[in-house]
Amino acid sequence: MARVIQIFDTTLRDGEQSPGVNLCPEEKVEIARHLEKLKVDVIEAGFPITSPGDLQAVKMVVENVKVPVIAALARARQVDIDTARQALEGCKNPRIHTFIATSDIHLKYKLCKTREEVLDIAGSAVKYAKNFVEDVQFSAEDASRSDLDFLCRVIERAIQAGATVINVPDTVGYQIPSQFGELIRKIKEKVPATDRVTLSVHCHNDLGLALANSLRAVENGADQVECTVNGIGERAGNTAVEELVMTLSTRPDYYGNITTRIDQRQIYRCSRLVSKLTGMVVQPNKSIVGRNAFAHESGIHQDGVLKEKSTYEIMKPESIGLMNRAIVLGKHSGRHAFRVKLKEMGFDPPEEEVEKLFLRVKELLDKKSIVSEQEMEVIIEEELYRVPEYFKLCYFQIFTGNKFRPTATVGIERQGELLEEAACGEGPVDAIYRTIDRITGLHFKLLDYSIKAVTGGKDALGEVNIRLTDNGTIISGRGVSTDILEASAKAYINAVNKIVKKRGGHYGDDRS
Ligand SMILES: [Zn+2]
Repeated sequence: MARVIQIFDTTLRDGEQSPGVNLCPEEKVEIARHLEKLKVDVIEAGFPITSPGDLQAVKMVVENVKVPVIAALARARQVDIDTARQALEGCKNPRIHTFIATSDIHLKYKLCKTREEVLDIAGSAVKYAKNFVEDVQFSAEDASRSDLDFLCRVIERAIQAGATVINVPDTVGYQIPSQFGELIRKIKEKVPATDRVTLSVHCHNDLGLALANSLRAVENGADQVECTVNGIGERAGNTAVEELVMTLSTRPDYYGNITTRIDQRQIYRCSRLVSKLTGMVVQPNKSIVGRNAFAHESGIHQDGVLKEKSTYEIMKPESIGLMNRAIVLGKHSGRHAFRVKLKEMGFDPPEEEVEKLFLRVKELLDKKSIVSEQEMEVIIEEELYRVPEYFKLCYFQIFTGNKFRPTATVGIERQGELLEEAACGEGPVDAIYRTIDRITGLHFKLLDYSIKAVTGGKDALGEVNIRLTDNGTIISGRGVSTDILEASAKAYINAVNKIVKKRGGHYGDDRS
């Protein structure tokens, strides 16, 4: 019989704790919907006590996502657990996830508590949570650096109190695979009651070992792995769901009947969405979902792949939903073909959106004769996940050259009114951004600017990603166009619109 590993996705909690990531509740719901399509077993939707926004986000995920278990994080304190319970109200499959640190270093410096005190707190927290939900997960924070005997006592206590899942986190990413596997084996041996619960692990990538540690844990009896999409998370991030799932499915000769419920064809779409909404760009050489993961550069490799794919490919790009059929739509393709294509790509927007998307793609077809699937995808994402356009780019003109000071003129529409300005800058992008600032009256610091071609070729679509800071909050923006300066302007205006939305629609400028 197959042994099914539970995938506990914490993209919306640990992933959202990545430096610079800040998701609004609507964006969290969008990601949660895709995680449901990906068929994860558990979605950790947030840490409700930390902010009203997080509480709201968990509530909205509960309203919109029905199949997976929804978990809310809470420290081992009544007020945290009460807030988590409140966030999960009305949830079909709720789980309260409570935790306390068990390592001496955390006890001494962070909690200022004795081992006995921590033991009691852990037991009481689980017991308290159990009043509200059947499914209670307990995590021993920094388990991998805890004294083994004490860790086992805490786990035993949590199980006695009613925990259904026991999670063993390598909170600081310190473990070595063989050691971590050994730890899981020993816990199972010393605490026989773990047979009655699901044993889980949560690994971090500080040494790049999150996947290896998770796999070792699975080999030694862990039945749940905590993961994030694209491996985002605190510091160097968490175990990447796509890496775990594809390792298990690519090596049945080694892993035998160990499997997951994940729908692999949703992996690529999920990766794109998370990258877009978090502003965390996926590195090109990232396993499974990086732009180069299936690209063959050297002549010998290309020759091999053309003759027989398995010469250099251990996985098929299609298996993660990465369709590489170059030609999708030509100038004469109609609405029907377009709609069929959308479905094939896994998008299912309402009818009025389909029309809008169709016009966008047609517009692109006027500039280039064929549009590839990847290009179509970027445009669709831009349209579907659009924030309200408080400001909308009408036109821009740029005067630049190696002997001139770049000067931009920009026209932006704000509630039907055309606002125009001009400004100089250090380079053409800087000139455009300064001009936009003049028009909006808002000023932000640009932290990051990156540009990439969506596909190869001189007429490829350019995609610009930027990050701005607004009083310490980091906001990302993305823009797409065949013209890189237009893509740059769009990315900036996209970020500005997000900030205005965050301010509740007030674009009162910083000048007054
Ligand atoms: Zn973590």
